Amino acid sequence: MEFDVIVLGGGAAGLNAALVLAQARRSVLVLDDGTPRNAPAAHLHGYLGFDGRSPAELLATGRDEVRRYGGHIEHARVRGVRAGDDGFVVDHDGGAVTARRLLVATGLADELPDIPGLAQRWGSTVVHCPYCHGSEVQGRPVAVLANTPDMAAHQGLLLRQWSDDVTLVRGWDRTETDLTGEQLERLEARGVVVVDGPVVSVAGGADDIEVTLAGGRVLERARLFVGGALVFTPRDAVLRQLGCARTDTPAGSYVAVDAQGATSVPGVRAAGNVVDPMANLIVSAAAGASVAAALNRELVEADCREALQLL
Ligand SMILES: Cc1cc2nc3c(=O)[nH]c(=O)nc-3n(C[C@H](O)[C@H](O)[C@H](O)COP(=O)(O)OP(=O)(O)OC[C@H]3O[C@@H](n4cnc5c(N)ncnc54)[C@H](O)[C@@H]3O)c2cc1C
Repeated sequence: MEFDVIVLGGGAAGLNAALVLAQARRSVLVLDDGTPRNAPAAHLHGYLGFDGRSPAELLATGRDEVRRYGGHIEHARVRGVRAGDDGFVVDHDGGAVTARRLLVATGLADELPDIPGLAQRWGSTVVHCPYCHGSEVQGRPVAVLANTPDMAAHQGLLLRQWSDDVTLVRGWDRTETDLTGEQLERLEARGVVVVDGPVVSVAGGADDIEVTLAGGRVLERARLFVGGALVFTPRDAVLRQLGCARTDTPAGSYVAVDAQGATSVPGVRAAGNVVDPMANLIVSAAAGASVAAALNRELVEADCREALQLL
């Protein structure tokens, strides 16, 4: 069977796209390998109607809704994509499937600071985004790590909105965190305490974290925010393989898309974190919905051209 659209990746972006396409009576297949970015988190925030519930529950609900309208979802890892007779062939670890159009929504990978104890706590007491996790620890002490002076100053001031006890650790082994006098003055004015790093290890329980600095000082905090110390890597191997044009952004090199997710390769669109590292869940879901409508429009035109040829 040839699908109208194959959606690569069944996170918020991919599932919302599949829902819109299935509701528009397009045949749609979602291929997903079960590794959404926010899987380590127990609760999600900032998503109207789902606040405080689990990321897994959001996706399970989404999969049910897609299937209710006849959409197909398979657990499979996509290995590659090639041109087919009338579209694309997608190779995955269970075989090969074909489609007229592709929507890539494979998300991104977070590269964490290489600090002992940190990776095990990712998504629980080591977190990146105050909008996602800040409400869980509001008013409690937090620490902040960042890669650059600008990011450090920004994150330190930002976290003050959620806590009046913010400690910014400057300097860890890949940073160059020489804050300017003006930045230090602004942080001080807002009551952000700046201490010298680097951080040598982190430890702690389910709801608190001990941040050990070189020299032995231990900061006892509720959370360590590392949003400014992450490196984002888009999971865009398929888009690379297809030769999609890229663009340099402040967050690195990403495949270039227009407002409807169109890449430079006809028939291939992308949505969510794979092309937009700043998109949270609801923005990713919205991008999926809007890209799906653009794909449907494209298919309406193609169907019309074919019908005219048959007259
Ligand atoms: C710890 C943590 C907590 C977060 N909490 C929140 C929050 O509370 N609120 C919020 O708004 N945002 C939160 N976020 C951000 C949120 O995770 C992203 O905005 C969102 O996941 C982006 O959706 P997406 O669909 O683009 O990507 P993803 O959700 O990452 O989905 C991509 C999907 O593609 C699949 N995939 C990738 N490659 C392949 C392949 N080769 N073959 C098959 N499938 C593949 C993956 O399995 C995955 O399911 C959090 C992020 C992190 C790291």
